[in-house]
Amino acid sequence: MISLKSSREIEIIRQGGEILKQVFIAVKPAIEEGITTEELDTIAESVIRKANAEPAFKGYRGFPKTACISVNEEVVHGIPGPRKLKKGDIVSFDIGAKFEGYYSDSARTWTVGAVDEHKQSLVDTARKSLECAIEQYQPGWRVGDLGSRIQSYIESKGFQVVRDYVGHGIGRNIHEDPQVPNYGKAGHGVKIQPGLVLAIEPMVTEGHHSVETLDDGWTVVTRDRKLASHYEEMIAFTEEGFIRLSADNEV
Ligand code: MG
Ligand code: MG
Repeated sequence: MISLKSSREIEIIRQGGEILKQVFIAVKPAIEEGITTEELDTIAESVIRKANAEPAFKGYRGFPKTACISVNEEVVHGIPGPRKLKKGDIVSFDIGAKFEGYYSDSARTWTVGAVDEHKQSLVDTARKSLECAIEQYQPGWRVGDLGSRIQSYIESKGFQVVRDYVGHGIGRNIHEDPQVPNYGKAGHGVKIQPGLVLAIEPMVTEGHHSVETLDDGWTVVTRDRKLASHYEEMIAFTEEGFIRLSADNEV
């Protein structure tokens, strides 16, 4: 069932998106050689709680931490722990909060220090694929119009797009209908209507797009153990167009 949001509800979700931006602003400068992913998680949790919100992922289906932190060949759902970041690592940081009864969900990928052009392109492609797709938005689009543009952007850069995990609606639940694949055919899928709020989250792989889950039951890695990146933003669709609820040029 698809739930369309009022402008009041969109405003609350936007405020949740602002809290996530504050998390990114606090965590990004801490991404340095030697810091553990658990230390990053602690920073995230304290920013969320200070904003009178709750971590959305902690306890969700038993997930033990506040953020999903996925390093290098890890695509999504990495569990923060004692792993120390190393120079050249690619770090996907996915965070969600619950604020005034509504969820927010957003992700960034950062690097530990400077990386070569190829790795930087992998990182940039996740964000740019979303921006490129959404900037072309026209009323009457279906989710396949988004997915097909995200996919073609990613493939034009020589990378692949993950099929097994997709974006989603968001609101009173962290994962709502419709599913939002980062691939597909233009003109296909659920119609995008005013009031729809989507968490769009391209996952980009350096090699083949197939993934598997590690024995911890959570961490999703590329099957070929090549690198991956991830970017997620919430977009509200309105009569006038769209609003990016968790975008920020600084992070
Ligand atoms: Mg997320
Ligand atoms: Mg999500």
